[in-house]
Amino acid sequence: MADDIRTDDTDCEAAEFLYCTYITNKEAKEEDVEEHGRRARDKSIIADADDGKNKKEIEKKSGARTTKTETETNAGPGPRPGPSANVNVYNANATKPKPRRRKYYKTKKRIQTTPLSTTTYEEDLQFLEKISPTRYRVNIGFVPNMRIHADVIVNDDLEKLLLAELKEANDSQMDSASFIPALKQMANVAALPGIVKCLAMPDVHSGYGFCIGNVAAFDMDDAEAIISPGGVGFDINCGVRLIRTNLTEKDDIPAGVLVGTGEGTGTGDVNIRESLAQALFDHIPVGVGQDGVIPITESDVDDILSRGVDWAIENGYAWEEDKEFCEENGRMDTADASKVSAKAKKRGLSQIGTLGGGNHYAEVQVVDEIIDEAAATSMGITKVGQICIMIHTGSRGLGHQVATDALRKMDKAMARDGIKLNDRQLSCARIQSVEGQNYLAAMSAAANYAWVNRSCITYLARRAFEKVFDKTAEEMEMNLVYDVCHNVAKIEKHQVQVDPDDTDSLFQEKNLLVHRKGSTRAFPPNHPMIPTPYQNVGQPALIGGTMGTCSYILMGTKDGMHATCGSTCHGAGRALSRNASRKTLNKDDVLKYLKDKDISIRVANPKLVTEEAPESYKDVSAVVETCHDAGISTKAVKLRPIAVIKG
Ligand SMILES: [Zn+2]
Repeated sequence: MADDIRTDDTDCEAAEFLYCTYITNKEAKEEDVEEHGRRARDKSIIADADDGKNKKEIEKKSGARTTKTETETNAGPGPRPGPSANVNVYNANATKPKPRRRKYYKTKKRIQTTPLSTTTYEEDLQFLEKISPTRYRVNIGFVPNMRIHADVIVNDDLEKLLLAELKEANDSQMDSASFIPALKQMANVAALPGIVKCLAMPDVHSGYGFCIGNVAAFDMDDAEAIISPGGVGFDINCGVRLIRTNLTEKDDIPAGVLVGTGEGTGTGDVNIRESLAQALFDHIPVGVGQDGVIPITESDVDDILSRGVDWAIENGYAWEEDKEFCEENGRMDTADASKVSAKAKKRGLSQIGTLGGGNHYAEVQVVDEIIDEAAATSMGITKVGQICIMIHTGSRGLGHQVATDALRKMDKAMARDGIKLNDRQLSCARIQSVEGQNYLAAMSAAANYAWVNRSCITYLARRAFEKVFDKTAEEMEMNLVYDVCHNVAKIEKHQVQVDPDDTDSLFQEKNLLVHRKGSTRAFPPNHPMIPTPYQNVGQPALIGGTMGTCSYILMGTKDGMHATCGSTCHGAGRALSRNASRKTLNKDDVLKYLKDKDISIRVANPKLVTEEAPESYKDVSAVVETCHDAGISTKAVKLRPIAVIKG
């Protein structure tokens, strides 16, 4: 289970969809690059914790960055020096590295942690309270040292999943260092210094220290308030962007229709949907450890870290107007490139414009339903059947290294400042400490890198569409609808109650450091931080669904600003661990299901078929519906996939 916790946290937990045609090396017998990549990254943390011992050996064994194989294809027009090859990334001969994860926990003794109480499930239930049809409260006392209560936004079905996880953990008496259920994780966060608000969204599940789906806000004016890499996640500024087009499914990308020398009659016939999936796969590098095709220098990396999307615009990889439609305008003011380690920058040098692995994807989607016409119109979405592109990825190895570097330094800072934790994965530093400020600056810089990464992938996607449809991206009106983060911490102003446990207490405006991990900012109409065209409808929050089902655009609300610090869900959220998915689901069944839905797909890793199957995730519609019913965001547009590429 611990393996899955960290794996999930690493590649973030948004949703995706898949499949239909499956182009990979089916003969791979052992671990693939994806799995090795994850382990290499996990080992990176462990090796760092072990003062660097074994790290080179681990990377050598994993082969994650050195043993991939490529099958060259004619990729057509692309960026300098030309788009990447079709990726066929198997590493059948790599030696499986010996797990060393346990050692990480056993060798680090410096930080004092308060053991979790050994309560029974029935005893735990006494601290849980349903306070509304969509809100479940974890009261003080559920775990030691809680400073405030914590609330989960759930419906009845999602509540059952949470409680089942809690019961399973209690019944099996799982080692608390290996697995902590999401309810206890959010309670542990509510015990951290300076916490003023702790919530979880309906797609909540257990993560690294902080549960995925957590919103944790800390008082910037409290000298003891903390910042934590675990509250952001290892994939800093993992996020989602949506690009619209003026193409339609019916006219431009119909299912099963062949074009070429004549439908179904000539050898040159191709299925346009398959061609599009292949073109995206040819243009956008995918897979863990896969290098990018956009050449950048060391000084470019510094520029990207400092200036975010501005760099992409100046270098021709983004349109000028894209900037307005990125959260924070694609550039965090708190960024300082000098606080990012040389090792992190080196990892970032080769990965700009790459999708990565796990649950990251680029999808061609179709507008399936317009629920809020005014909101949809303001986003340029005018009809059912309209084609859009959704991209989900983050800051790649650079962001992971920033988190790893910070965790090492924060362990020392916690010992110095006497910070006590319920769980050592909550490793943190006071916001105002040198370590806290350095992490804030480095994390913000990594967030800038992620915006440039998504911008460069957009550039490649625009080129792929141009090749397939023989029109310019401008002619196809491939404008950015919006780009949101779902793994980040930012300083924001919010109205909070003076006494969070007294519903009658007064509200006051506070500067908060809001950690959103697997949750999305969703600011209301008329907020100064959202683009002018969306002032009347609120900020779009982009929610990736599960494989073969659907995604949503939600709009931020005034109620959400008050209730959840302007936050909503980020995706479906896992219901099964990756191991459990592989063991319980049948790959062929999943493929047939997707083929029946006319979804074309290219993947670099066949295990993703079961790992990312709809059954592996919570029902995204139920997650979105719960957010809608709770009033923290409202449904605007529903989309479904027709072509997918994944790492
Ligand atoms: Zn993500």
